[in-house]
Amino acid sequence: MFTTLIPSPTHEAIYRVEDPDSGLLGIIALHSTQLGPAAGGLRMRPYSSFAEALEDVSRLSAGMTYKNAAAGLPLGGGKAVLLADPATQKTPELLRAFGRALQTLEGRYYTAEDMGMSPEDMALIHEETTFVAGLPDGAFASGDPSPVTARGIFNAILTAHESCQRTRDISGRVVSLQGLGHVGWHLACLLHGAGADLIVTDTDPDRINAAQRELGATAVAPDEIYAAPSDIFAPCAIGGILNPETIAQLNVSMVVGGANNQLATPSDAQRLHERGILYAPDFVANGGGIINVATEILKIEDRAGFVDQKLHALDQTLRRILTEAKSQNVSPDTVAIDTVNRIIAARAAS
Ligand code: NAD
Repeated sequence: MFTTLIPSPTHEAIYRVEDPDSGLLGIIALHSTQLGPAAGGLRMRPYSSFAEALEDVSRLSAGMTYKNAAAGLPLGGGKAVLLADPATQKTPELLRAFGRALQTLEGRYYTAEDMGMSPEDMALIHEETTFVAGLPDGAFASGDPSPVTARGIFNAILTAHESCQRTRDISGRVVSLQGLGHVGWHLACLLHGAGADLIVTDTDPDRINAAQRELGATAVAPDEIYAAPSDIFAPCAIGGILNPETIAQLNVSMVVGGANNQLATPSDAQRLHERGILYAPDFVANGGGIINVATEILKIEDRAGFVDQKLHALDQTLRRILTEAKSQNVSPDTVAIDTVNRIIAARAAS
């Protein structure tokens, strides 16, 4: 096993982890441990290069610092990636080797499942380290975070709607939803239950069919979702989808969704603001997932109570961000970043 420190001007530490015997090649990025041990998921993807993986893990781990701070959790930001195809290269030996690498960090980083990973994979990693959450069973196992993520996004939609329309009643409002996976489907059900009308898309036709059949949704092709006329656009599939090309097409007054890293670049937040579109920062709107995972890392006895309290606090945080953004006539993203930086600075000073 080789662990090599990669110099970084932005992160506390970034490690290249390699184990030729098992085929492990990965990166663990600790962006900040100022609020507590870094926490964030483990992603396995067949990256085209090490540089691409490094860029991904660097950006995602910084996002976790913001997300954990916004959610009021005593956790810092970290993330890990494995350069491998989960369909063909994921082996128990490789996952155990990653577990051994994780153990050497002695609790400075807790991992959990992200793209390409399952609870069973977390159990294999757990054979070598205790610093892992998202386990399939055990005293504090937190299970699938998606329903809690969806609850947080649903709250954020109501709060954004209240900020624009002075009411949390979204019945009869149209929501265009990109992605009907774990998060998107739960969100679609909550929106349908609240009386909203849905325009949906997915690359999987079965998921679209289910939404049409069970939720009375209108379906559009994946590239038509941006121009679909609706009140709220909820991206719940992939990152980077808010860019100059898509923002120009948007026919909505709010963007509130669960996908990570929705903005292709930070300047796209300003672009949305200039178009008069309220953008709820993704790292605030989708904080429910890490709140759920935190119950396992922090070994919370009253899981449901903790989740309810933290989701409520997260919603209050978004409300303050939107109010301040409106009064200063700036993008909520700007205010959200200032807010989390203040939280981190206050902790560092105490
Ligand atoms: P998922 O893989 O279960 O669902 C993604 C869905 O998007 C799938 O149905 C897929 O077919 C669809 N999709 C993929 N590309 C698409 C495209 N170009 N157009 C339309 N649909 C497309 O993933 P998930 O767990 O639901 O997560 C969705 C997003 O939310 C991701 O960005 C993830 O990082 C983020 N997120 C998830 C959680 C969670 O609790 N699962 C928490 C925080 C953030």
